[in-house]
Amino acid sequence: MAAHPTHALAELATDFSLLIDGELVTTPSWLDVINPATGRIFARCPAAGREDLDRAVDAARRAFPDWSDTSYGARALRIGAFCQSVRANQESLARLLTTEQGKPLAQARDEIARAASQSEGLTRIPIRPQLLEDSDQRRIELQFFPLGVAGVITPWNAPVNLAAGPLTSALYTGNTVILKPSPYTPLTTLKMGELAREHFPHGVVNVLAGGDELGSWMTEHPGIDKIAFTGSVETGKAVMASAAKTLKRVTLELGGNDAAIVLDDVDPKAIAPKVFFAAFVNSGQVCMAIKRIYAHESVYDALCDALAEEARNATIGSGLDAQTQFGPIQNRMQYDRVLGILEDARRTGARILAGGEIPSGDGYFLPPTIVADVDEDSRLVREEQFGPIVPILEFTDEEDALRRANNTRYGLSGSVWSRDPERAAALASRLEVGTAWVNHHRATSATVPFGGAKESGIGRVYSEMGLKAYLEPRVVSVLKSSI
Ligand code: NAD
Repeated sequence: MAAHPTHALAELATDFSLLIDGELVTTPSWLDVINPATGRIFARCPAAGREDLDRAVDAARRAFPDWSDTSYGARALRIGAFCQSVRANQESLARLLTTEQGKPLAQARDEIARAASQSEGLTRIPIRPQLLEDSDQRRIELQFFPLGVAGVITPWNAPVNLAAGPLTSALYTGNTVILKPSPYTPLTTLKMGELAREHFPHGVVNVLAGGDELGSWMTEHPGIDKIAFTGSVETGKAVMASAAKTLKRVTLELGGNDAAIVLDDVDPKAIAPKVFFAAFVNSGQVCMAIKRIYAHESVYDALCDALAEEARNATIGSGLDAQTQFGPIQNRMQYDRVLGILEDARRTGARILAGGEIPSGDGYFLPPTIVADVDEDSRLVREEQFGPIVPILEFTDEEDALRRANNTRYGLSGSVWSRDPERAAALASRLEVGTAWVNHHRATSATVPFGGAKESGIGRVYSEMGLKAYLEPRVVSVLKSSI
């Protein structure tokens, strides 16, 4: 965080504000934001200090009684109007998202459209009290009431979509919100805050950009009742430890190391484009991307060839260029990490089938890289690479493939590919994951719970299950006999 601007402001986009208590505010501290396609700072935005957080929390607490008293229907209407505003601004939001995040413009547009439609989908899920007993003696009802102020902390890979789910879930269920985007990609979220200002009462939605320390101030703040965190496993553990001091509720959506198991009966050429896209979309920077491919020995070579062909035909470049299919890695730190993983794979004797060479020029680019004959203990297989480099490993026996797929501390999602969906589903049902797909990979919807098993998270987003993570259950038990 820079306290004193050192760049000529005229060259930078600076039209960004925090949203606190319904007001758009600036601060004396700034965050510089880098365009990953050039590696250069292109914008700067205000960064919140502790006192800004305190003011936002005060505002959110003051707004809570009225907002939580508002009906689900009325809250859904306001969320719907906000979604319409997001749609109306889709193009300018998408260009900003691509410039700060790197993904191709078409995918940025899609992210914004999905954020709006999934938010609306969430507000169509009814939350009603449950009647547990209605006997001659007593009536027992299970009710649900909002928690209070929710702190929403998001990562840099899909900042709009990953804010929309928790933001809408919190608001629809009657909570007020402090939303903090990643310091690498704060801008589109701040613009969403400007739009939210037009649709929600003061203090109901507050948006604060800031560094990692802002996240830890939120997790320890006594005025925040719940943290919805999306990010890495390591930070997720720090969030949970910090939240424990005030017994905040937590939803943790963390990293993954998804396996795709490809059975012996597939046509490798036919599935290669689908497997390739699910592994490399957003240059592999997707929590639920395919990160390990286990292919049966009878299709291994053909699948290697077909995936390498896909990689060689891919167009990489700035997300703002219409022909670009794969943009840069989002930030320098992640770029260096991915290059380190590639180096480790080379050093341990892996075969690079396609990609692997850093193009000349600016920006954090690595083309889609397919790696065969990988050591199972290499970093590429053990760690979450979160970048455009994917290993393809061979198996003979399905039980062995399943054991290797499950041999990880991660448990976000996985998939099985076969001409026989029932056979694949039987194997998929034994993956230790929050979501197991058959013949596809990477799909979410407002009505289907999504989240991680094992160290990939705690709790679920979307669906009634996800919404109830923003509500406290309360049993009301009434004896029917008079006293
Ligand atoms: P990160 O954990 O570094 O940061 C995520 C957010 O946490 C940022 O806003 C950051 O400022 C904040 N933060 C950092 N330190 C903090 C602390 N001590 N307390 C509170 N907040 C803190 O993650 P990232 O690098 O931005 O994102 C990539 C990771 O996110 C990957 O592991 C990816 O798999 C994961 N992810 C998971 C999902 C999911 O739904 N399961 C979705 C997208 C990304």
